[in-house]
Amino acid sequence: MMTKIAPAVVVLGQNSVAVARKMMNILPGATLYGLAGRTSEVDISYTNFGETLRELFAEGTPLIGICATGILIRTLAPMLSDKRQEPPVLAVAEDGSAVVPLLGGLNGVNDLARRIAEVLNIKAAITTTGDIRFRTALLSPPLGYHLANPDDAKTFISDLLAGAQVKLEGTAPWLSNSQLPIDSNGDLTIQITERLVTPAPNRLVYHPATVAIAITNTVDVTSVQQLLADAELAPASVAGIFAPLSAAANPAINAVASALDVPIRFFTSNQLESLLSQGYSPAQAVAIAAMQEDAGTRGRGDAVNLSQILSASPRLPLSVSSSSSQIAIAIAPEPIDPSTIGQPRGRLAIIGTGPGASQWMSPEVREILKSATDLVGYKTYLDLVGSLADGKRRHESDNREEIARAKVALDLAAQGRYVAVVSSGDPGIYAMATAVFEVLDYHNKPEWDSIDIHVAPGISAMQAAAATIGAPLGHDFCAISLSDILKPWSIIEQRIAAAAQADFVIAFYNPVSKERTWQLAQARDILLRYRTADTPVVLARNLGRPGQAVKVITLKELVPDVADMRTVILVGSRQTRTIQRSDGSISVYTPRRYTEDKEI
Ligand code: SAH
Repeated sequence: MMTKIAPAVVVLGQNSVAVARKMMNILPGATLYGLAGRTSEVDISYTNFGETLRELFAEGTPLIGICATGILIRTLAPMLSDKRQEPPVLAVAEDGSAVVPLLGGLNGVNDLARRIAEVLNIKAAITTTGDIRFRTALLSPPLGYHLANPDDAKTFISDLLAGAQVKLEGTAPWLSNSQLPIDSNGDLTIQITERLVTPAPNRLVYHPATVAIAITNTVDVTSVQQLLADAELAPASVAGIFAPLSAAANPAINAVASALDVPIRFFTSNQLESLLSQGYSPAQAVAIAAMQEDAGTRGRGDAVNLSQILSASPRLPLSVSSSSSQIAIAIAPEPIDPSTIGQPRGRLAIIGTGPGASQWMSPEVREILKSATDLVGYKTYLDLVGSLADGKRRHESDNREEIARAKVALDLAAQGRYVAVVSSGDPGIYAMATAVFEVLDYHNKPEWDSIDIHVAPGISAMQAAAATIGAPLGHDFCAISLSDILKPWSIIEQRIAAAAQADFVIAFYNPVSKERTWQLAQARDILLRYRTADTPVVLARNLGRPGQAVKVITLKELVPDVADMRTVILVGSRQTRTIQRSDGSISVYTPRRYTEDKEI
């Protein structure tokens, strides 16, 4: 588990909201969770405190509870196993008079406590000995620094506490600004370097995340590792992989990033254009662009030129391209935060939320809804997603603008956003997945090639309808949409006749709308040529939503009035049977056996 950066601030009552918001000024990306019914103007309302907290903790989200320490301890106690893995957990008093770091000592809880204390104008209740004395936690360096030899740290810290002096080799503001007993003649050494060096019990080595690797084409993991080894660079100092957006779908680049466990960020061809025209190779251009953006986000202006970049890494040429011109390495003067450079690979998930609200939504779809940055869909479907849509950019549209909606979604994803296109039921059944692939097929834009596209299935209306009434789809079946907006009625007629003749159970989608009323009666008349008037028909309306109604009628009773756009209709085959149960309910099923011998 990776510890996430943006914390969750959890409050139980409205009194705590003001203190929470005050702290959140210094916690970028933090989310305020408030107990439903007791709080308003929060980011996310929760109903179950324990479950919410444990779920956030398991995800590695830093937790700030504005409540008693005891509540947090008891809630999280069952989850505590590995102190290296736990995110920071802090309790803050409701009136903002105390902040107590409880867990996550190895993941920066004391730093977080100090920052909160500063904004609340109080003193953090820090209890970690080394931390109090030296104002820094050697075992949990800040983001952007990796301790190479944590096993040596305990004795090292004890020696410091016993009075040893320490020498700093390399620079890191968090160490030079601490109250460590720094002395150039110290017996102990702390070294900050991106170089591969051998640590020792009296030498703690921190690798700063300063190395950017630019890759422009297929390379294999071992050659990148070899290149790092040849350059004597520590893999732990690699901050990220950088690449042209056109290479985003290249699995080799993705494999390198996952082997090094770092993010990949991309540059568009527009962003690289001027560097390429200056004669840099594509890999060099990407490396320079990464350094320039890094410098830009630090407020050093974006006019960094190559000589500055080279001087920032005096021990290495910018490009270490002996084995391959597709790789360039650059070293920044300070740790890089890749999330501020370039853009991530865009993702487009086309998801089906099931026919109703949450009870028929798959865990995968729920996960996607949580992680996505943008939701695209028909307003009614987005509304059905409920609180999972909180905090996302919504791009609503009319239900008929499917092609336009697909283009909007692809364009957003090409900019590096994580877009979820929301359909009801299953996204591949009369829904948005097809629209997206149609657009890709007929209107393709090169920038869409970079997008990672994924379809997440959902329960379709016909499955939900079948489940509510028994097993009418228990043998061969088909689905036919009665909408003649996208296909001519003559095709629909042929299909109904063929399906009826072949004795399929038929699920009719889009049976009737305000403008389309006669189609259902015609469909019934075709069916009556092949099936008896008493064939069972299931009418299922508003499945999984308020007003759900499921009714069994016979084929002769199938008139347009009995259905609308929120109804799916299942017409039985010649085999389909109904069972009258003693409680008055009725079940419909289609037998699996197709022999005269019906005995089971
Ligand atoms: N992708 C959807 C189908 C969209 S087409 C799915 O897989 O279910 C829209 C049609 O689906 C509606 O006209 C209706 O026939 C059916 N439908 C969708 N949701 C429904 C629901 N909750 N109850 C009954 N029918 C529904």
